[in-house]
Amino acid sequence: MTLSFQHSYATDLPGTFVRDRPAVAPAPRLLVLNEALARDLGLDVAELQENAARWFSGADLPLGADPIALAYAGHQFGGFSPQLGDGRAHLLGELVTPKGRFDLQLKGSGRSPFSRGGDGKAAVGPMLREYLISEAMAALGVPTTRSLAVVATGETIWRDTGKLPGAVLTRLAASHIRVGTFEFFSAREDVAQLKALTAFTIARHYPHLDPDDALGLFDAVTARQVSLIAQWMGFGFIHGVMNTDNMALSGETIDYGPCAFMEAYAPGTVFSSIDRGGRYAYANQPLILAWNLSRLAEALLPLIDPDQTRAVDIANDRLEAIAPAYRKAWEAVMRAKLALPDMTPEDGVLADDFLKTITGADWTLSFRRLVDAAEGREGALLALMPKPDLLAEWLPRWRARLGPDAATRLRAANPAVIPRNHKVEEALTAATAGDLAPFTALLSALQDPFAPEAGREAFTLPAPTGFGRYVTFCGT
Ligand code: AMP
Ligand code: MG
Repeated sequence: MTLSFQHSYATDLPGTFVRDRPAVAPAPRLLVLNEALARDLGLDVAELQENAARWFSGADLPLGADPIALAYAGHQFGGFSPQLGDGRAHLLGELVTPKGRFDLQLKGSGRSPFSRGGDGKAAVGPMLREYLISEAMAALGVPTTRSLAVVATGETIWRDTGKLPGAVLTRLAASHIRVGTFEFFSAREDVAQLKALTAFTIARHYPHLDPDDALGLFDAVTARQVSLIAQWMGFGFIHGVMNTDNMALSGETIDYGPCAFMEAYAPGTVFSSIDRGGRYAYANQPLILAWNLSRLAEALLPLIDPDQTRAVDIANDRLEAIAPAYRKAWEAVMRAKLALPDMTPEDGVLADDFLKTITGADWTLSFRRLVDAAEGREGALLALMPKPDLLAEWLPRWRARLGPDAATRLRAANPAVIPRNHKVEEALTAATAGDLAPFTALLSALQDPFAPEAGREAFTLPAPTGFGRYVTFCGT
């Protein structure tokens, strides 16, 4: 089957994008193609193999592609930018597959009218990074955009750190509609576009709602986002740049920039070099979620009720409900991670106490070693702890609550393999220098995160102390 594009966004939402062609890559070379994903979506893998380098670099557009750059605004680190938009990405169109409708977007594909001062390009390292981490998230069962391919463009790009090889990522997303998309039209007081965008988003993601049900849309997005952030927290994932333009109405994780997985559990963990105040620190993510949803509610106000005072009252009620809804979602995640048959208020305290107990120990291993503890072997778990006595007191309380098959359920909820920072860096450094072998090996381990450790221990261990404090950079 040839890629067959539809263009509902362009057709239904005139005035929300500009037509713009991706830059022509001078010497495109395919670095990675997601054959499993392609097969899953019913795409022709042989055809993709043959054409990916040209189609997914901008060198040559696939038949039926009609590239556009989408307009959006956004609150970045709390400050409003009324005009962001796809400054280095082009939406080629939508693929309708047996698994649903997906935007196919090139990222790093050159300047657009939204590029502001940027070059519109991306480097091999950050694009492979998004590929690796988005596919790891998918394997963990977390809603996410997917990565179909990365193509090296053959071009050299300039960054603070020096010259780097350029690349384009092909991303598949349920859509690219962001909180910032609504903010763009709200800031311009364009109620007609807000209405059209609301109807479009509902038809695409929440078709059970009436097209004009803005409050229903808000509730549905809140439910998905609350569940999403609770899952991030369970896996120790730190997005790093939870600006409103990086929050999707679909409920998928989107825009992998300076994200990373926490190793030693510390609520204030931050990796991003630009997040100096710790706004997007691990433990702040649920608070930022509520903050971002407040911006969405504000944008929707004129559609919630024509009487502004009433609209604000209704929205405030909804916003107050986010924290308790998040706590419930987090308890559901912890119930699975601790293999509890139930989640009583006492179980909630048990979960809170576990976190206090493991403070300073590796997050992922602390949960994974519960498998052994459930089977009566506590040594490996206790050995991880800065304060093993605390855990020794906690374990009998937990054991008293365990149901049958606890070890099996613990193994299915707590991964052995996550994208360890030092392994990610090792893979990207080698790939940038032309050696894809470490990337391929890491990707393969990440695709089976819950399987036993045996034979792949190197992917399960935290960074050696010599690795130092990990700092990530935006992929610009
Ligand atoms: P991000 O940090 O990737 O979420 O990007 C934030 C905004 O900056 C978006 O509007 C991007 O399109 C834009 N942007 C990021 N990198 C570049 C670049 N190299 N050239 C032009 N625009 C960019
Ligand atoms: Mg972004």
